[in-house]
Amino acid sequence: MIPVKTQIPNPKTQSPNPKAQSPKPKAQLRNYAYPVPEPDTTRGLTTLHEDEALFRHSVFEFADREIRPLVREMDEQAAIPRRLIDKLFDLGVMAIEIPEAQGGAGAAFFHAVLAVEALSRVDPSIAVLVDVQNTLVINALLRWGGDDLKRRYLPRLAGGTVGAYALSEAGSGSDAFALATRAVESADGFVLNGRKLWITNGNEAGVFIIFATANPEAGYRGITAFLIERDFPGFTVGKKEDKLGIRASSTCELLLEDCRVPRANVLGDIGKGYKVAIETLNEGRIGIGAQMIGLAQGALDHTIQYTKERRQFGKAIADFQAVQFQIARAATELEAARLMVYNAARLRDAGEPFVKEAAMCKLFSSEVAERVTSLAVNLYGGYGFVKDYPVEKLYRDAKIGQIYEGTSNLQLQTIAKQILT
Ligand SMILES: Cc1cc2nc3c(=O)[nH]c(=O)nc-3n(C[C@H](O)[C@H](O)[C@H](O)COP(=O)(O)OP(=O)(O)OC[C@H]3O[C@@H](n4cnc5c(N)ncnc54)[C@H](O)[C@@H]3O)c2cc1C
Repeated sequence: MIPVKTQIPNPKTQSPNPKAQSPKPKAQLRNYAYPVPEPDTTRGLTTLHEDEALFRHSVFEFADREIRPLVREMDEQAAIPRRLIDKLFDLGVMAIEIPEAQGGAGAAFFHAVLAVEALSRVDPSIAVLVDVQNTLVINALLRWGGDDLKRRYLPRLAGGTVGAYALSEAGSGSDAFALATRAVESADGFVLNGRKLWITNGNEAGVFIIFATANPEAGYRGITAFLIERDFPGFTVGKKEDKLGIRASSTCELLLEDCRVPRANVLGDIGKGYKVAIETLNEGRIGIGAQMIGLAQGALDHTIQYTKERRQFGKAIADFQAVQFQIARAATELEAARLMVYNAARLRDAGEPFVKEAAMCKLFSSEVAERVTSLAVNLYGGYGFVKDYPVEKLYRDAKIGQIYEGTSNLQLQTIAKQILT
């Protein structure tokens, strides 16, 4: 297979839609009372450009071929084999927005959303590994890193190093800026002490973005982001959580005990870590929306196939109108969620405001994922409740969408703030 890397045209060097460059025939304009929009804006939100469609197809194929056979084992063993991670790097999905000159695909945020969705259809654990790498870690580095940090870390993140993003602590989750990890200035940098909890990719990561406060009296204005390498003295990865869903994705405690971090590894400005955190999480939650629509699609695909095969009362259960209507409703909700996710991602790539849309898409698609996977279990009957069939896992995996990168209540808070102030 041609690696996806070679299949993603660089949006900076190529027009996403070649037709956009050809002049419009004047005759077609005559009958319109309003200006004809540019071709891009006349497309359906879910109509993909050629490169996007090719890219998504390649990730679909990869997921079916390389991931699907491992899903059950990875869930049971709560681990992702390193050889699969290496294949994700080879595929090009671990460095989607990193410029080609630094080893990445030089593609858009929307491609990351497509990759997360396509992987999640098969395994949401793999999807979140890719999601954190792209929408949080690489995104933060591209946006807030200086030339030196980018030069040192982007090629590594493109070449095999997994990243993790550590904000949460035992005492600060929704109230993220109440974090207690302390950064004290030293002669050559900072010394960090504290504990991070719930950190995705903790087991696999070689590079960690860690938030600590350099000035507790300043409240959130003391928070600073640091780039820490796994082998920095004083840094250790602690306990791995045993979870309900996305079991193969590692969720770990991180311990910082007099961890010395060079000044050059401050990400963004000292005291501006809250901005790094808020702004990357605003974008990251579009990725979680993508994870949720991908897994809901996976559950729906299984359910459609199963209900056509399973026979009761002398016919396929898909022949009962009650079942058809339940599936039709699920497909409709999923379509709405996908439109919201794609819209938020496209707004973000277009440089337009997207904070409200990102919160809405995560809120809604995680609720849809829970409903669709629950329906899938129902329509599988007893077979939906056992591990020999795929839907019970997707049902368990769906729950996390309403918790991480801001709980549903916190998304509602963001939406309310955007529309009421
Ligand atoms: C599998 C997993 C992976 C994770 N990965 C990461 C990661 O990679 N990096 C990272 O930094 N963190 C990560 N997290 C942490 C995650 O972001 C937090 O768990 C989440 O933000 C919720 O925080 P909390 O668990 O402390 O819950 P709490 O903040 O204690 O919330 C408990 C309940 O109270 C509600 N609540 C809290 N405050 C309010 C309020 N003001 N108004 C209304 N309701 C409120 C919440 O909605 C929730 O229902 C992960 C968590 C899990 C489970």
